[in-house]
Amino acid sequence: MKVTFPHMGTLWVAAKAILEDLDLEVVVPPRPTTRTMNLGVKHSPEFACLPLKLCVGNYLEAFERGADAIVMAGGIGPCRFGYYAQVEREILNDLGYSYRMIVLEPPKGHLSDLVNEIKGFTGQRSLRRIYQAALFGYRKLGALDAIERRTNQVRVDEAARGGTGHAVQKATALIDRAASMDDLKTALARGLEVLDQVPRKESGDPLKIGLVGEVYMLLEPYVNLDIERQLGEMGVLVERHVYLTDWVRSHLTADFLRFDHEREMRQAAKPYLGHWVGGHGVETIGNSVLYARRGFDGVIQVAPLTCMPEIVARSLLPVVSQDHGIPFLSLFLDEHAGEAGLRTRLEAFVDLLERRREQRRRRASTLSLEVAGHSR
Ligand code: SF4
Repeated sequence: MKVTFPHMGTLWVAAKAILEDLDLEVVVPPRPTTRTMNLGVKHSPEFACLPLKLCVGNYLEAFERGADAIVMAGGIGPCRFGYYAQVEREILNDLGYSYRMIVLEPPKGHLSDLVNEIKGFTGQRSLRRIYQAALFGYRKLGALDAIERRTNQVRVDEAARGGTGHAVQKATALIDRAASMDDLKTALARGLEVLDQVPRKESGDPLKIGLVGEVYMLLEPYVNLDIERQLGEMGVLVERHVYLTDWVRSHLTADFLRFDHEREMRQAAKPYLGHWVGGHGVETIGNSVLYARRGFDGVIQVAPLTCMPEIVARSLLPVVSQDHGIPFLSLFLDEHAGEAGLRTRLEAFVDLLERRREQRRRRASTLSLEVAGHSR
């Protein structure tokens, strides 16, 4: 069995490590390109979500490289995520492929279902072995998250535009090559060092923007047109609300494992959206409120065109923005979106945030002059 999986940012590094640890042969699909997107678009229903189309493209390119089994994360409604796996199966069956599909459904309180599914395709490896492989993969995800967080801090000050890109690739390759927990610690330390060596200039007090929205669109740079890089190169410090470890924790661990941040986020969303609408609609609202409370200058919502949970969130964002005094920009992207068009919209938003900050500073200094005048 040659196993593949869809791309979602650097998830491939951990997925490959786990599957190889379980002695499975792995075919990593090529990084998404226009060809991948075209293949997905050609064979998917027109109104399917963008992530589904790109995943189909990933599978087809992996099949070309000999893959004959797919591991993917399943999902649940009320949005279309609940049908993802079925639709993908139908598409690939219609194209005449013979393959095995393993869908890891969110356990929702029944971890044993997930474990049994994993045991089924790993040739009944022991629980201990599966646990060790999963833990190693999870630690790799943690290391990748640390690299990505540092990347955004470094990029905002890079002396020459694009200087960070090569360092990120090098750091990711180090994490990928790590073969043991000890190796991984060394690789992470070395990766962070590589990033810290990127020549930097003094950037002062950069604008801070929080990225919220649908998880796949936030984590996969091909579909979000590398928005973090684009903003970083404009001198903006970017933070996104979800990193890979967050996604794994919330998606593949049991319901009863609630984390402090998640509780805080749900509380923050509650006055606007108190029930689950699928996808990451609640997260988009809750995290926008939290970014406002932390003093961020703005939030950007990134979502696939026609994404129902994000449309619900979009309709509530103007009220959140007014109540908490934080500007927002909503970007609904599809396969026709282009980097130049996105850049223009980002530049306009950044420009607006800069002027708003300048006005606030001027107002604050006028106020302090008035106070000083009164106290004399
Ligand atoms: S969250 Fe949005 S993009 Fe994801 S499956 Fe649901 S509708 Fe589609």
